[in-house]
Amino acid sequence: MRPLSYSRVSTVEEAVARATHEPAAAFLAGGTTEVDLIRAGVAMPDHLVDINDLPLAGVHDLPDGGVRIGALARMNDVARTPAVRERYPAISRALLLGASEQLRNMASMGGNLRQRTRCAYLRDGISPCNKRIPGSGCSALEGFNRGHAILGTSEHCVATHPSDVAVALAAFDAVIRTAGAEGERSIPFDDFFLLPGMTPEREHPLQHPDLIVHETLGLVCVRRERERTTVLRMNRQDLLGDPDHRIGSQLLEVVDIRDAHPPEYGPRIGIDRLPRFRECAGEIPRPR
Ligand SMILES: Cc1cc2nc3c(=O)[nH]c(=O)nc-3n(C[C@H](O)[C@H](O)[C@H](O)COP(=O)(O)OP(=O)(O)OC[C@H]3O[C@@H](n4cnc5c(N)ncnc54)[C@H](O)[C@@H]3O)c2cc1C
Ligand code: SF4
Repeated sequence: MRPLSYSRVSTVEEAVARATHEPAAAFLAGGTTEVDLIRAGVAMPDHLVDINDLPLAGVHDLPDGGVRIGALARMNDVARTPAVRERYPAISRALLLGASEQLRNMASMGGNLRQRTRCAYLRDGISPCNKRIPGSGCSALEGFNRGHAILGTSEHCVATHPSDVAVALAAFDAVIRTAGAEGERSIPFDDFFLLPGMTPEREHPLQHPDLIVHETLGLVCVRRERERTTVLRMNRQDLLGDPDHRIGSQLLEVVDIRDAHPPEYGPRIGIDRLPRFRECAGEIPRPR
């Protein structure tokens, strides 16, 4: 059995300092992803820094009309906050479409963006998988890949990111704010998820011990856009863990948006703001 130590911190500075001194530490928020990955042998931290006491669970209005979502705000709480429901309905809807009522009560917004792909080969802990063990190969290329990506892939990985709310956050040009050993920085959402390329094990531009502190949404000033935004999600079998629906939701999102917005508005809303979809936009078929 591998030893795993645990500490609980109450400030952002303490969290960063603690993780800095433990190079193989991981942050623990709701634990709905991290604990599963540790059990499966996919994540192997030797220390867990519990961040649940940090003052990052709020959703705050900003003076410019935007909203700041704390990294520890729970999915259900964010979805039901009036400012989010009224000004960013696609975010509220994307959150409520995901997981289950119980999970959403535990799952944090920061953890949601750091969750790992649901590719079965990553999660079985033994199959060749470049994301888990760089250079070991990609079992999904010739294996079970029905729920995998068809755009933005590489010969080293064809996995999708499983977060539903990431689709909506990308549409609203969210900015991720982090705290780390070098201080704080802001990362535009478009830059937060990295394409697999040659290094699928690198999913974000974060470096240990970067902590997500909040996600900021600017004011949405075009009323028409706000009314038209939504997130569609297609389920083939079940709500909990079937990967196909995410491909469906992403493609439907792009297609809907391209048709819904007259050219003068530009493609402002949708997953097509992610680099991988912008690059491949010409390949996406329109519905007849
Ligand atoms: C059965 C099941 C079904 C699910 N279905 C869906 C779904 O339909 N749609 C969807 O979008 N998601 C789904 N999820 C994923 C769920 O939303 C995530 O597990 C959850 O949001 C993770 O948040 P957490 O607080 O539990 O994170 P944790 O499990 O505590 O942490 C997850 C990862 O994020 C890191 N982390 C956590 N907080 C921070 C932070 N502030 N800064 C930096 N790193 C951090 C941790 O170190 C860890 O690596 C599902 C999960 C399960 C188990
Ligand atoms: S698709 Fe990515 S996560 Fe899945 S086996 Fe291949 S490298 Fe691993």
